[in-house]
Amino acid sequence: MTSAPEFTTPMMRQYLDIKQKYSDCLLFFRLGDFYELFMDDAKIGSQVLDITLTSRDRGRDGHIPMAGVPFHAVDSYLAKLVKAGYKVAICEQLTEPDGHGIVERDVVRVVTPGTVLDENSLEKKENNFIISLSMDEKCIGIAVADISTGFFQVSEYELGDLEQILTNELARLNPSECVLPVFLYNHASLLKILKKAKNLSIFPFIDWDVYAAKSKHYLKKHFKVKTLSGYGLEEKTHSLRAGAGLLGYLNFTQKDKVEHIKHIVHFGKKDFVDLDRSTILNLELFTTIREGEKKGSLIHILDKTVTAMGGRKFRQWLLKPLIAADAIQRRYNAVDEFLVKGSTREQLRNKLETISDIERLVSRISVGIGNARDLVNLKEALTGILHIKTMCGEFKAPLTKDLICSMSPDLQNVVTLVAKNIVDFPPFDTKNGGLINLGVNKDLDNLKNTIKSSKDFITQLELTERKRTGITSLKIKFNLVFGYYIEITKSNLQHVPDNYYRKQTLVNAERFITEELKQHEELILTAEEKINALEYQIYLDVVDKVLQKTPLIQQSAQAVSELDCLLSFAHLAEKEHYCKPHIVQTGEITIKEGRHPVVEKLLDDTHFVPNDVTLNQSDHQLLVITGPNMAGKSVFIRQVGLIVLMSQIGSFVPAKEAKLTLVDKIFVRSGASDAITSGLSTFMVEMVETANILNNATSNSLIIMDEIGRGTSTYDGISIAWAVAEYLVTNKKSMPKTLFATHYHELQKLAEKFTAKIKNYQVLVQEKAGELVFLHTVAKGAASHSYGISVADLAGVPKEVTHKAFQVLQSLEKEL
Ligand code: ADP
Repeated sequence: MTSAPEFTTPMMRQYLDIKQKYSDCLLFFRLGDFYELFMDDAKIGSQVLDITLTSRDRGRDGHIPMAGVPFHAVDSYLAKLVKAGYKVAICEQLTEPDGHGIVERDVVRVVTPGTVLDENSLEKKENNFIISLSMDEKCIGIAVADISTGFFQVSEYELGDLEQILTNELARLNPSECVLPVFLYNHASLLKILKKAKNLSIFPFIDWDVYAAKSKHYLKKHFKVKTLSGYGLEEKTHSLRAGAGLLGYLNFTQKDKVEHIKHIVHFGKKDFVDLDRSTILNLELFTTIREGEKKGSLIHILDKTVTAMGGRKFRQWLLKPLIAADAIQRRYNAVDEFLVKGSTREQLRNKLETISDIERLVSRISVGIGNARDLVNLKEALTGILHIKTMCGEFKAPLTKDLICSMSPDLQNVVTLVAKNIVDFPPFDTKNGGLINLGVNKDLDNLKNTIKSSKDFITQLELTERKRTGITSLKIKFNLVFGYYIEITKSNLQHVPDNYYRKQTLVNAERFITEELKQHEELILTAEEKINALEYQIYLDVVDKVLQKTPLIQQSAQAVSELDCLLSFAHLAEKEHYCKPHIVQTGEITIKEGRHPVVEKLLDDTHFVPNDVTLNQSDHQLLVITGPNMAGKSVFIRQVGLIVLMSQIGSFVPAKEAKLTLVDKIFVRSGASDAITSGLSTFMVEMVETANILNNATSNSLIIMDEIGRGTSTYDGISIAWAVAEYLVTNKKSMPKTLFATHYHELQKLAEKFTAKIKNYQVLVQEKAGELVFLHTVAKGAASHSYGISVADLAGVPKEVTHKAFQVLQSLEKEL
């Protein structure tokens, strides 16, 4: 940064004063119809936004680098800057220019990656999370918010492995911004971990400690509660500090307009199935491993929600599979009924599709960037909810009934309020009138009448003047510079009466005014000014009243989002022939004719081969699955993980029958599929993750290991895989159900040693006339052959090579 110059013009002094308060932001300084950037900001702006850098003469202050963007297009420019990792302070004119002195200006909002509210910059079906952290050597508190929806959550963990905790949390939340107290911003190892996250901007917040120091008081005041014990937070120091620091930051950026954040969610890990980063990646819940794309992921197949709110809820559900059987059963029962009453279900989905994003509308209105159109959209969405409420009368499932109850009939008052006051198609701008219905306010109606009668008078005047002067082409027109005037063509000038005053001469005509015309123009213009001010006031009044209903509206929006998810489950269950899982407490997982929900959709001309599986706590605790590459081992073991996960979010599952004991954690590991980005060797990653499973799995967990030990030499790999499997079935602490896919045939011997726990399964292949046919059928027993060479053959490796490989294999086998 160049040192701050001494400015002498009042406007530049004002600029500098404000800029000093927001030195870590680019300052968008409102000048009429433009936001201007000055000095270094202008240079950055011109580069990032690709706009012209000018150097405007500012009188005594000389030439100042400057770049500007038109105010009506500001959102797209903001989006670009924020995406590039900048924070932008928006400085508005607070008073109208009156010709005397400079107008007052101040920052009304700071836009940062985690606080953008522009619809075009936000993914509809995804949250835009901002997080903050508080920690010491023992504990870490994580606060998460999405100001575009009003979501606010805190959690606290004992500090074991900081990297593990944070990496998992970042994988789950995918936040766009992290705000830290200054001392943590200087914490090198913490920053190193945070910087690994994709698209995460990290900023210090100078006042963080001020809010954290009085965290309880601050949170209680904001959430309007006497105690935080209702949230289970009284003793959670780091949750409280992180929460207060984050809320303080949000209030700072939104200038105290975050009233729509109404509740704290206290996220306790033990309420949900634990899914860590590797599991999320390996099950390809949100993106595929190879392409990193949504297409081909589980959510791409499963999410049939039709509202943005439902879409966001679906993601949250997918990340938080339930542990409590009754909560899951409630979802099943609701889905079951929606399945039976299919035609009402589809009608409901059609109706839901028309409902706009209520959470984001309320947020926009609440932080003060909304307009009358947002109110009208909200009115229509709430009308839609009331309609849905009546459509749901026939449903008896307790969860559905509860959701319908949460859609408050009181929404009707909001609908009536907006309908009564705001016109159906209001303009974008709230300060130029045209928003408020007739009959709302007497003064407003009178002013509108004044305008109408003056305009009628002017129309009439045109006719009478034509008659009086005999000039048939005489016209009364209006423009912003001259107001109303009478236009007479040059050829008729000799007929102009004496009471006309000349105003302007054009090539073919002259423009005149009269006393009378001027009087009516005065009336119209003053009335318009008053109308604009009055309408704006009424608009603000309506906004205020609507915002008083925020809790009800948000609660109804939540209900809509959950209903949308349940309807999506039922819709998909019917379309894809999913079955309702049966929750048991026997410790077993038995799936008949299970399918992989994604792979079965991706196969073009072949049929997906369904497979059975049994896992239990006795003789089927660990299954060793062997078979050549490409046989279908990975698909099979992942499909078990997916079916378990789906059943615990309340979805039906791709199987003929599924008997499931609920699991507390799912671990999915595969021969280090995402090692490239982490900077560690493939094998190291594999071992770190294996250690993590062995230390954290319980007897209620499900472990899925694909080709573990592949990252090292064969003998090393076999030995480690063997030892891990043996540990899982022998250690007394925990005996998790495990699927172990391997192409190391040596591991099949495990089943002989631990007959009471381990079973061998193989994915069948057939050799037909020297060709390998993949059957994709999983059967009991050990595979006899490696088939690796046949696969190489199939892949087109030259015959000389495969032939040679066969010879080498034979000689190696002799040596063993
Ligand atoms: P492996 O892990 O044994 O190397 P994969 O599980 O990756 O093999 O499966 C290889 C391919 O086989 C998959 O991409 C899929 O196209 C096909 N496949 C796997 N399982 C099945 C199945 N049950 N039915 C049909 N095709 C399958």
